[in-house]
Amino acid sequence: MTRIEPGSTIGIMGGGQLGRMLALAAARLGYKCHIFCPEENSPAQQVSAAATIAEYDDEVALAAFAKQVDVVTYEFENIPAQTAKYIADETLLRPGVKALEITQDRLSEKNFLNDSGVETAPYMAFQSEEDLEGAFKEIGRPSVAKTRRFGYDGKGQLMIKARADKDRVLEVTKNTPAILEGFVNFDREISVVVARSASGDVAAFPVGENIHTNHILYMTTVPADIRPIVEAKAKVIATQVANALEYVGVLAVEMFVKDETGDVVVNEIAPRVHNSGHWTIEGAKTSQFEQHIRAICDLPLGSPEAIGNVRMKNLLGKDILEVNKYLEDESAHYHHYGKRDPRDGRKMGHVTWVDANE
Ligand code: AMP
Repeated sequence: MTRIEPGSTIGIMGGGQLGRMLALAAARLGYKCHIFCPEENSPAQQVSAAATIAEYDDEVALAAFAKQVDVVTYEFENIPAQTAKYIADETLLRPGVKALEITQDRLSEKNFLNDSGVETAPYMAFQSEEDLEGAFKEIGRPSVAKTRRFGYDGKGQLMIKARADKDRVLEVTKNTPAILEGFVNFDREISVVVARSASGDVAAFPVGENIHTNHILYMTTVPADIRPIVEAKAKVIATQVANALEYVGVLAVEMFVKDETGDVVVNEIAPRVHNSGHWTIEGAKTSQFEQHIRAICDLPLGSPEAIGNVRMKNLLGKDILEVNKYLEDESAHYHHYGKRDPRDGRKMGHVTWVDANE
């Protein structure tokens, strides 16, 4: 396995806040970062040594970028698979193409999970009205329709209660390939952020409990209010997923929990550092961002242990403007992603509160 020594340059595909926090963690370990993304002045570019501003399918720009870096990683999963393959042919890509290809498509992701023995909600693929009728017969209601690709933060999704209006479903999925999923009557939502290094070492962070509003993560608390056996089960699942994908880096597995039975059902995999892992920056012995850098550079992984009770709240839209409120709070750690326009629902920053163990 190739180890990337401090002093080297890490290429990051994507310029958002995840890239920014990766670049900050990389800098502390002595690495320089080079961001590749289509937008000027991105949150990641603001804190990085270099940037290439180009479209993801610009092969001339990709080739020049690949020559200037020692390893490439990505901070969001919708970079075209073709781009990932191109990069992987030119230089080291970690995580690799396999994780990206599987997780970019909800159907292949669910097939992969089930083939690996991991439970998901029942699901069926559809595209046309005729397929949808068949899917309703098979999956029933309530259920959730989701486009197979490019869905995030609730986009391309529709909850279907007792009666389903097929036209409405097809309007949301825009007649593109989609899946119909059985509705999971869960008590809580959790996620496990796990790292697997290039040498195959694995370390899972403590389970986070997540609250969403309007499909966007609002808050993560650690420890999650679940039984130890459920915590252990969730970590085993995440580890199994990382190993099955031969994954290198940090990934997150989002799950639903039914308290009474202790059932854990996987919702989705994010092949990258994750919003529900931001608490680790101040709340764990090693942050998810540093852990990702360690994993892709094949350095020893750090301890994922939490240092106490932790709570992370996203600052969406204008919430970011309450600077003093958080800075005057001694136990709060305020993060601003450097984005200008505080549009409604936009992830502008986050705050973490740590109640450290004695
Ligand atoms: P996703 O885009 O798959 O992460 O879904 C966004 C949110 O919708 C999840 O965090 C859940 O709150 C809810 N959701 C998604 N799928 C289901 C399901 N099959 N059953 C119940 N709730 C769901």
